[in-house]
Amino acid sequence: MQFIRKILDAKMAAGQPAISFEFFPPKTEEGDRNLLERQIPALLATRPDFCSVTYGAGGSTREKTLMIVDRVQREHRLPALAHLTCVNHTRDEIRVLLDKFRALGCQNILALRGDPPGGGAFQVTPNGFEYSAQLVKFIREHGDFSIGTAGFPEGHVACQAGKHADWQHLKEKVDAGADFVLTQLFFDNADYFEFRDYLTSKLGVQVPLIPGIIPILSAGQITKFTQLSGAKIPAALQTSLDKLVNNDEAAAEFGIEYATRQCEELLRAGVPGLHFYTLNKARSTVQVLKNLKLA
Ligand SMILES: Cc1cc2nc3c(=O)[nH]c(=O)nc-3n(C[C@H](O)[C@H](O)[C@H](O)COP(=O)(O)OP(=O)(O)OC[C@H]3O[C@@H](n4cnc5c(N)ncnc54)[C@H](O)[C@@H]3O)c2cc1C
Repeated sequence: MQFIRKILDAKMAAGQPAISFEFFPPKTEEGDRNLLERQIPALLATRPDFCSVTYGAGGSTREKTLMIVDRVQREHRLPALAHLTCVNHTRDEIRVLLDKFRALGCQNILALRGDPPGGGAFQVTPNGFEYSAQLVKFIREHGDFSIGTAGFPEGHVACQAGKHADWQHLKEKVDAGADFVLTQLFFDNADYFEFRDYLTSKLGVQVPLIPGIIPILSAGQITKFTQLSGAKIPAALQTSLDKLVNNDEAAAEFGIEYATRQCEELLRAGVPGLHFYTLNKARSTVQVLKNLKLA
């Protein structure tokens, strides 16, 4: 399978944005079937450039990350980016996992610190990693992978020192060997533009900074996500969502419109790609891409 850094280079040379989709491993067998047999085929019909699969805090969904990556690569011939986190992993375990990835032909890894199980503060595993920059460096030293990392246009929620300190830590991840950045979801493009300008002009970061887009599916769900991620909902968006609290269908239609407008502006500003948080549901993301004439 192709390295994502090469895919991004080729798209940039062609003057086109790279389109990618994020999935999470379902908790049930029915969820697996829905994702693998319905949602993924519907999404992949739009011909994205790669997809990514999240990595949970523990238990059986961690195995499923690899299973989904493997199936997407084998059955759809699409490069998949496996997320990998520091949570509850020693360095030896990560080394074994990297061997597994390699054996499956998975050459692309999104290196993350990860969210602690059940919330709360991150705990370092003995003989593990404290920050994802250390994981990036470790992966770089243990094989030929294309490595992505997470970026936060509004600053990471736990960074007490503020967003500029967090962006400095992002530079450390790039310096440790990350080839590209996928951002946290955001709703105000001004946050992404400030983030991009600071990283490129002030810190000299040159890797692609790919914005993360979530088409809103319901007012309640997006409130929960933004509370967890620390992303803010601009006042005008909140006012619109307040009117859609009991109407998920209308909220999803609104979400398609909002994401379309957001992506149009980002594309005009020359972003290297668009990474969609699909929530394992094809309809809204497919419609946004159709609106953008990118499907
Ligand atoms: C695109 C994307 C995909 C994601 N996928 C997953 C997933 O699959 N599974 C999952 O569990 N979570 C996932 N997350 C969430 C992510 O793991 C959390 O937001 C996590 O809290 C931060 O991860 P990180 O890799 O950015 O951490 P780090 O880069 O380690 O940063 C964590 C915090 O430490 C600070 N920091 C970094 N280096 C230093 C230093 N040297 N000194 C002091 N402070 C420092 C940073 O500013 C930040 O506040 C994803 C996030 C994004 C944006």
